[in-house]
Amino acid sequence: MTDVQRKAAASPIANNSAANNSAAKSYDVIVVGAGFAGMYLLHRLRGLGLSTRVFEQGSGVGGTWYWNRYPGARCDIESMQYSYSFSNELQQEWEWTERFAAQPEILKYANHVADRFNLRSDIQFNTRIVSTVFNEDTDRWTVTTDDGQRYSAQHVIMATGTLSNARTPDFKGLSSFKGKTYHTGHWPHESVDFTGLRVGVVGTGSSAIQSIPVIAAQAKHLTVFQRTPNFSIPARNHDLTPDYQKSWKDDYPELRRRAREETRNGVIGALPTKGALEDTPEDRHKLYDIEWERGGLHFMSSYNNLALSKEANDTAAEYVRNKIAEMVKDPAVAKLLQPTTYPIGTKRICLDTDYYDTFNRDNVTLVDIRNAPIEQITPNGLITGGKEYEFDAIVFATGFDAMTGSFAKVEIRGRDGLTLKEKWAEGPKTYLGLMVTGFPNMFFITGPGSPSVLSNMIVSIEQHVDWITDCLDYLRKNKIGAMEATQPAEDHWVAHVNEVAFKTLYPQANSWYMGANIPGKPQVFMPYIGGVHVYRNTCNEVAAKGYEGFALTAEKQRATAAE
Ligand code: FAD
Ligand code: NAP
Repeated sequence: MTDVQRKAAASPIANNSAANNSAAKSYDVIVVGAGFAGMYLLHRLRGLGLSTRVFEQGSGVGGTWYWNRYPGARCDIESMQYSYSFSNELQQEWEWTERFAAQPEILKYANHVADRFNLRSDIQFNTRIVSTVFNEDTDRWTVTTDDGQRYSAQHVIMATGTLSNARTPDFKGLSSFKGKTYHTGHWPHESVDFTGLRVGVVGTGSSAIQSIPVIAAQAKHLTVFQRTPNFSIPARNHDLTPDYQKSWKDDYPELRRRAREETRNGVIGALPTKGALEDTPEDRHKLYDIEWERGGLHFMSSYNNLALSKEANDTAAEYVRNKIAEMVKDPAVAKLLQPTTYPIGTKRICLDTDYYDTFNRDNVTLVDIRNAPIEQITPNGLITGGKEYEFDAIVFATGFDAMTGSFAKVEIRGRDGLTLKEKWAEGPKTYLGLMVTGFPNMFFITGPGSPSVLSNMIVSIEQHVDWITDCLDYLRKNKIGAMEATQPAEDHWVAHVNEVAFKTLYPQANSWYMGANIPGKPQVFMPYIGGVHVYRNTCNEVAAKGYEGFALTAEKQRATAAE
């Protein structure tokens, strides 16, 4: 028994629970998910002395970096910034080897954090949460796992991830394929060798763009099925020198503060001061050249209006289209790879290593399926445009049911038996992305309505975890039994999230930000685009005003606190 479990067993809630229902173990907080969010939550909640249990369906920590083991998987935020800031010892001792860390290194980091802070003892692996039901009499949640065990908790925190619900489209004949199929977001733990094989990749999003060059180097022949081309910028990944790391580490507290408080996306970089049309075409070209040579996502911060003005955006989009034409030798293939149907950056921009050059290889074919969808998977391959392509293996790089998919897989039942799925039938509605009216005492990490996927996610995760744990401390000290977003506060926030989104070009793309990649999913711009700095201030102000916009009700009698 760990200290926290001992504490839980000794707590009045646990004792009451045991007296009333020996089947349901009781905790102060249940956390769902053990990615970077769940791990940091556990650390902070322990610090408050709250009995906490984390449930994780995988067999290890790391979330995204546990599941996405496909060849070429790596970060698109620089390693010195895509890491926890909560422990100075941790950030000083950990050594990153590359500008953009690869998946194995990030997973190693996650495991290091779990060991260093002794997290595993309170994480239950290989356990999926299937339902969580609110009891209005006790203000507590009953949480049920896939093996039928029930648990009770006053608070449930969904740290289930925004890109954690990998999705293979429902292709006709999928199970008939005789070769191997893979999904990038659910990659096997053992190494996969494509040497000598005929491989098909479906999709050309970030995961495909990272994996295609690596698979092409192994496969006998690779065929890429593209529905929509993506804009990709060279990563220009390289090893990190000790001096560069030291320069960050020496100034970490201040640099982390700036990322949190002064940036839109949680990433430090030179802030653009002018719009694209304020420069002459020659100067603009020079600046894009500099950013292209430097590599990385900062290309989209060359000017301050690329996400706001279509005319400005066109200059960047045209620059990248020209680069694609320079890199890809066959003009017909280059044309297919040039995106033209949405503004650059409004679908998540990609970073690559040799992606476009890969289409110059003799063993790589690009098939345009925009007007000829995949008709069916056959025992030997797949059919599109009336033609069968034969493969030994097919890789689905077809993405995720993003932002809401992992919640939809759990039966979340709030007040009056309403499910979250029903509540969100027309798209997700939250207050600050943190809570939902009708679902008291349940928090969401990086939920829809927060900056989330538009930011360096670790910055946003830490901000949510800190806000929620401070909040739980407040609730406990003030003997608050239930906290719930009020309807007016939620309505106001949803309207604000929409208003800000529609001032930008983002809603013009059929992106997963809009839910457009999932047939039948309501099309709503899900993340909050106001910026992490602005959002952070808003959250802090809400807390400073005694959690304005939330209804707080006093604790019920302990005697009724158990399920
Ligand atoms: P996750 O890491 O997704 O963890 C959630 C966990 O919850 C998972 O382990 C899942 O198994 C578990 N879970 C879900 N439902 C249940 C359930 N019902 N029961 C039990 N367990 C459950 N972000 C960036 O900022 N920069 C990047 O460069 C970047 N690269 C990415 C690359 C890829 C391939 C992907 C897919 C995402 C990337 N992201 C990136 C986003 C990334 O998801 C976040 O950075 C971060 O890792 C999310 O952490 P998390 O803990 O919130 O969620
Ligand atoms: P994605 O961006 O959603 O890309 C999925 C691809 O599959 C798209 O090209 C899509 O085409 C295609 N597709 C989906 N359904 C299809 C169908 N039925 N038929 C044919 N094609 C189909 O998913 P992802 O590449 O896994 O990336 C998701 C997100 O994860 C990224 O946007 C990013 O935030 C994160 N990520 C980051 C990195 C990184 O660099 N660090 C790497 C991977 C992922 P359409 O565009 O036409 O829908």
